[in-house]
Amino acid sequence: MITYQVDVSQTHAHTLRVTLTIAQPAPEQIVSMPVWIPGSYLVREFSRHLSQLQAHQGAQQLAVHQLDKATWQVVCAGHSALVLSYEIYAFDNSVRAAFLGSHRGFFNGTSVCLRVHGREQELHHLQLHGLPKGWAIATAMPQDPTLSNPGNFATENYDELVDHPIEMGQFWHGQFQACGVPHEFIVTNAWPNFDGKRLLADAQRICEAQIHFWHGPNAKPPFKRYVFLLNAVDDGYGGLEHRASTALIAARRDLPTTEQSELSDGYVTLLGLISHEYFHTWNVKRLRPKDLTPYRYAEENHTQLLWFFEGFTSYYDDLFLRRTGLIDGPRYLKLIAKTITQVLATPGRQVQTVAQASFDAWVKYYRPDENTANATISYYSQGALVALTLDLLLRTGKTPATLDDVMRLLWQQSQGGPIAQADIAQALTQVARRPMHVELEKLIHTTLELPLQALLAQVGVAWSSTPPTMAQRLGVKASESALTGIRITSVLRGGAFEAAGGCTGDELIGLNTWRLRRLEDLSHLLNPAQSAQLLISRDHQLITLPLVLPSTSQGSPVNLKLMPEPSAAAQALQQAWLHR
Ligand code: ZN
Repeated sequence: MITYQVDVSQTHAHTLRVTLTIAQPAPEQIVSMPVWIPGSYLVREFSRHLSQLQAHQGAQQLAVHQLDKATWQVVCAGHSALVLSYEIYAFDNSVRAAFLGSHRGFFNGTSVCLRVHGREQELHHLQLHGLPKGWAIATAMPQDPTLSNPGNFATENYDELVDHPIEMGQFWHGQFQACGVPHEFIVTNAWPNFDGKRLLADAQRICEAQIHFWHGPNAKPPFKRYVFLLNAVDDGYGGLEHRASTALIAARRDLPTTEQSELSDGYVTLLGLISHEYFHTWNVKRLRPKDLTPYRYAEENHTQLLWFFEGFTSYYDDLFLRRTGLIDGPRYLKLIAKTITQVLATPGRQVQTVAQASFDAWVKYYRPDENTANATISYYSQGALVALTLDLLLRTGKTPATLDDVMRLLWQQSQGGPIAQADIAQALTQVARRPMHVELEKLIHTTLELPLQALLAQVGVAWSSTPPTMAQRLGVKASESALTGIRITSVLRGGAFEAAGGCTGDELIGLNTWRLRRLEDLSHLLNPAQSAQLLISRDHQLITLPLVLPSTSQGSPVNLKLMPEPSAAAQALQQAWLHR
């Protein structure tokens, strides 16, 4: 038996005290801390927050040998229980690690629970101790059936143990049923006028629609209960998916309020996040890359398929807001147009394929810098556009079908298990009733433009471009404030600012004889195609750059609108795609 006792009383020191008891240890027992958390593809070195590791058998203290950055070995005498004790510093307020403070606690097992090598498939017990007065516990981790008091959990194996984050504190709590399955919603640190009733009703619509999507009208989802753990903060956004729960972080102002009747853009973003993480319960937690099966906790787990597992999930997250009627068609098109605009404004789309972007997530997507836009493409946004392309290709094909059919076929054929790219190509081919392998190869393994404009026209959606912003015309990303001035944070490949010799970090000060206060001031001062003198500051030196601004720009924002009078065929296709 493997048991973790986690003492959460040291809130002021932000420290979790863990006692790990291993019944019948190996003669040379090895334990290790994961270096990453599944769902977030970056080596995070969770062992850096572990200290004071000690080992005992009865009263006997044993030597602990460190084998590498995250692995330890203890030589045991006989088979009596090995007890390891250690501290975890917990002050990471994200959804990916562990946090303990005076107002709340939260942790994932990957940050707290040493993996006992050779024993991963046994029952794992977790017991919380020292809970501050008035705190409650929320998690999808199953209660230990042999212990009735709260805070005692038992899981089938290590994988399950670390796939149920735990929230502790005083939080808002609501619940609903979706297709007969209990769902709980925890919100920590919401404003008093937060409208919990509305959040529950809207989340319920999304959950029921997704259960129906995967299993039809009368079936149950592959979990007995589901828990949303939402931490509201001043500014933040993110989520991490798990088999029966999700940990979310959102800006407090994006929560619905009792005074609000319209859906704010912030709330639509939050509903999209809820939809995204819930969809992952199927797409990545069960239907998952073969390369990530089983998870290897000690190293990077590479896959070329994040365009499918993250990108397709990103396509469906907002589509479910439309299908449930939470947003209307024009608002949905705005969300797609935003994604298209983002991709078109990224020079890296001509450098990296979406399959390469997936494989390199560990060193590129999760480690952004000033060159990211030039060298990489997001497998989220480009993957979502690949999904849109395929969905429209299927819908407008000779034998009309949908991407929904492909997702469900993959689910059935894999029985909700691991898949490879060949399975996706095969399912597409079967649904489209024509070979799709070459088409998929082109979308995934080349940087060719997606034929979206033509496909959208076939479903009665008109594509137009709006005038580019000054940053887009210059080919930069910039931050502006009265304190720091206009600072260039990224120089885009092939743009006017690069041609003028500008660098990341430059501060724009003036143009010709004029002082610049805002980037948009340039639009009043510049004549396209005429050279001007741009004064910048770089490392305390004033430098003049000759700037020629092109009249057009690559990254003009895209606008999508329903055509006022589409053909009957386009109208029918649009109806099937966009209407409830
Ligand atoms: Zn995701």
